[in-house]
Amino acid sequence: MSLGVETLFTSALGLRPPWAVESVKLDTVGRRIDFEITCQSARMACPECGAEHQPLHDRLRRSWRHLDFFQFEAWLHCDVPRVSCAACGKTTQVSVPWARSGSGFTAAFEALALALCRDLPVKQAAALF
Ligand SMILES: [Zn+2]
Repeated sequence: MSLGVETLFTSALGLRPPWAVESVKLDTVGRRIDFEITCQSARMACPECGAEHQPLHDRLRRSWRHLDFFQFEAWLHCDVPRVSCAACGKTTQVSVPWARSGSGFTAAFEALALALCRDLPVKQAAALF
């Protein structure tokens, strides 16, 4: 991954640390594209009460289907952290930035993904991803 496709998609998705695209898999046969997103933080704010720097309880695997673009099915996957909060005593899953209501993918992301899929020969695209 010398070309930094993960970095490209991280910024195209509008993700900020600790969220980042970890890997992108393009399946030209199955016509789907899978984004693995990681949360690179051991501590996060409690979604319930807002207490900062709370330890993580565990991570739960979740997947999101996005609108198709070009001829590809787009999927996001992430092990989403749950915060174990010392302040309010609750265990709560943090909200992911791409699943906020109305946020979805940015137009920039769709444009970039489309450009990548269209401009690269299939073999080259498969090698890239
Ligand atoms: Zn709390």
